[in-house]
Amino acid sequence: MKTKGVKNVTTEGNDLVIGTMRIRRLPSGKLVAVSEEGDWEFLDEGTLAFLERGVDALPIDTAARLLSKFLIDSPFQSVGMQLLKRSRLEAKRSTVQGGTSLHIIVPTLQCAHSCKYCQVSRALESQGHTMSIEDLDAACDSIFESPSPVLTVEFQGGDPLLRFDLVQRAILRIEAKNASEGRSLRFVVASTLHQLTPEMCGFFKQHGIFLSTSIDGPAALHNQNRPTRERDAYERTLAGIELARAIIGPTSVSALMTTTRASLGYPHEIVDEYVRLGLPEIFLRPLSSYGFAKRNQSKLGYSVEEFHAFYEAALERVLWWNSQGVQIREVYASIICNKILSTFDAGYVDLQSPTGAGASVLVYNYDGYVYPSDEARMLAETGDVSLRMMSIGGGSMGADILGQLRSASEPNKIDGCWTCAYHAYCGPNPVDAQAQHGSMLAPVRETEHCARHLALFDGMFERIAVAPEDQLDLFHLWARPAGSPEAVCEG
Ligand code: SF4
Repeated sequence: MKTKGVKNVTTEGNDLVIGTMRIRRLPSGKLVAVSEEGDWEFLDEGTLAFLERGVDALPIDTAARLLSKFLIDSPFQSVGMQLLKRSRLEAKRSTVQGGTSLHIIVPTLQCAHSCKYCQVSRALESQGHTMSIEDLDAACDSIFESPSPVLTVEFQGGDPLLRFDLVQRAILRIEAKNASEGRSLRFVVASTLHQLTPEMCGFFKQHGIFLSTSIDGPAALHNQNRPTRERDAYERTLAGIELARAIIGPTSVSALMTTTRASLGYPHEIVDEYVRLGLPEIFLRPLSSYGFAKRNQSKLGYSVEEFHAFYEAALERVLWWNSQGVQIREVYASIICNKILSTFDAGYVDLQSPTGAGASVLVYNYDGYVYPSDEARMLAETGDVSLRMMSIGGGSMGADILGQLRSASEPNKIDGCWTCAYHAYCGPNPVDAQAQHGSMLAPVRETEHCARHLALFDGMFERIAVAPEDQLDLFHLWARPAGSPEAVCEG
């Protein structure tokens, strides 16, 4: 709403808009101002009072500081200044404009686990949940329709290693096609690693394939979250990690975790487990509300506040380990740091705006269809196929759905987002909105995606405001996207 009597000031919740600057009051009471381009500055109450009277009232040194961060406009806007602002905005959006770079192939939905929170299905015995050879070959060829010079191909499931023959065929076909295309290729196989054999490892080593697996925490927690008939999921995944490290290499496996209600009481133990296993990264992921996860929400779910309390305690433990000389990076914090501290966007799909779903990521599903994101194909498992784009190799690129996703995720055009201090870093997640509210255009401030990210950005700004120098250095290190000029500068 417009604030009466004050020129050019709008308020919503904890956010205040003055000119093009968004100002947010953090839970501690501190004020942070963020520009359209994502530059920011902590403000004191005196500066806010000046700003509310009008930019002309600002002391000259304060005005100069805010001007240098594009928080206020100069009355003498030069062309050079406008170009600089434009280029900063473009750098933030480069990953969503550069063509689809992440291609997810789901060769099978079969899996040895029957996780209660699994977003997909339990289909170990089923033969009807596997991609046909024709669709697999068409998916491999379709990948090269993207203009992106860098292509990441990720195999997901189910457990792709249950159909290693399809994974192998796809990798060989893509590599053969790339001999004339010359793209930079990266392959990732996401798996429980239960089926991993020395022969598979030999193939992965030869072709430079990375493995990604799930570790939810210590054995008891992991086995509770991921039941197998023998209740040995943790032990078998660990055996897979050891095998991969021995044959492919010590850094061949990364891991991530899913937070269930059972996890909430063990933030330190979960982080300590990652340190014990020598894993350099942990991704503290919330439970997704798709498929089986949604159906079991009342048993497994928790509030945004409960997740945030767990997350902050676990992040604190990660930072403690770093202070002890153990280098371990929390991936979610790195994504948030990247948004706040880096000029270049790391391309995390859930926080791209407009959304990266369908623009920077495509999923070729076992069912023969293309979906705009991993979450969209999970949604289809629950019967909502509204985000199905087209059949694999089916020509026109689901322009209709892409258009809807795009217009539902432009923060400047969405009520609730345009006043948000974090709209330079974030935006609505239309796939989440469709999953939780049955509409891509659900009121954004009522979505879990929004509440979670408001809390995450608030939390990181609170930390940055009081961080000692070595911790700030760590946040800057985490903020760098791989391959960015910032990363390259550091050699
Ligand atoms: S979705 Fe993101 S940008 Fe939009 S209001 Fe919520 S936190 Fe702000």
